[in-house]
Amino acid sequence: MIPYKIIEEIKQTFPSIPLLENEPMKNHCSFRSGGPVRVLAVPPDEASLVSLCAFLREHEITPYLLGNGTNVVFPDEGAEDLFVLSTGAMQSVSILPDGDLCVSAGLPLSRLAAFAQEHSLTGLEFASGIPGSVGGGVLMNAGAYGGELKDVIVSVRCLDLADGSIREVPASECAFGYRQSCFQNGGKLILSAKFRLAPGDREAISARMKELNQRRRDKQPLDLPSAGSAFRRPEGYFAAALIEECGLKGVSVGGAQVSEKHAGFIVNTGNATTEDLRTLLSLVRDEVYRQKHILLTPEIILVSPSLQ
Ligand SMILES: Cc1cc2nc3c(=O)[nH]c(=O)nc-3n(C[C@H](O)[C@H](O)[C@H](O)COP(=O)(O)OP(=O)(O)OC[C@H]3O[C@@H](n4cnc5c(N)ncnc54)[C@H](O)[C@@H]3O)c2cc1C
Repeated sequence: MIPYKIIEEIKQTFPSIPLLENEPMKNHCSFRSGGPVRVLAVPPDEASLVSLCAFLREHEITPYLLGNGTNVVFPDEGAEDLFVLSTGAMQSVSILPDGDLCVSAGLPLSRLAAFAQEHSLTGLEFASGIPGSVGGGVLMNAGAYGGELKDVIVSVRCLDLADGSIREVPASECAFGYRQSCFQNGGKLILSAKFRLAPGDREAISARMKELNQRRRDKQPLDLPSAGSAFRRPEGYFAAALIEECGLKGVSVGGAQVSEKHAGFIVNTGNATTEDLRTLLSLVRDEVYRQKHILLTPEIILVSPSLQ
């Protein structure tokens, strides 16, 4: 339990940082489930975020980092001990003298792709329909339609939560792989990233973004809440095809359902709980293993109540 006294001290020391107390995480996650966490803090800029992290470090509180909440779900019972730190308000983007883009962690990837298009820069069209933030996207090495963020990232600036140091990590040291990066080891807060794009034709970039977003609307259940692809792609297979072949399309637990439109997604048909999602993920994983002898690994991150 985070002492009341500490929360009061944070309010006094950082009056510019909005603090939401006992905040239901269903309001901040695209799957729309999850109970209240003790605090959700949304620093307006990098300086206040770094100072707040120093304060938390002094009081031995490790924050849970939140981007746009499109790949993560929180426990239904909430988490009294959890201090969630959102990068959502840090949304700056600028073009550096060398032409690279410097982008804050909280900027939605869709906004970054739109910015690139407006400046006739090509390379991020694939990301325009990914609903995450730059920080969450870097951590997951988000990708679609043959592109991955690692293809256009030059470096990532991050704050070490353990000692407060800030370091710019070149892309070559980020251990990027399929939906993978070194930042998944924890302990680092991604502050911003540098992207290198190529000059392109503004109209052609726009047309490609429209085409890919139409493909998404045609194939994916975007009308219902979800957390994106439920499982990682097993090598040599497609998770959605395996799930469909096992007759699991449309199967549900409570309000969580394997999408009728795209078996790779689990959607919230109304009042799904995180427990419904967790149970359905296990059911799908076990049934696919029973029939195909292939073990699926969830891509959705289920935050544990005992994280701190
Ligand atoms: C409809 C839909 C479609 C999707 N399509 C795709 C797709 O095509 N391709 C794809 O790759 N993904 C897709 N996703 C999944 C999701 O959008 C991506 O994984 C995205 O990168 C997550 O970003 P986020 O900001 O929402 O991260 P969150 O869900 O908020 O967090 C994800 C993880 O990143 C960590 N994190 C977030 N920000 C930071 C930070 N600044 N520093 C350190 N750690 C941080 C969190 O602690 C958590 O562990 C889709 C999701 C939905 C709902």
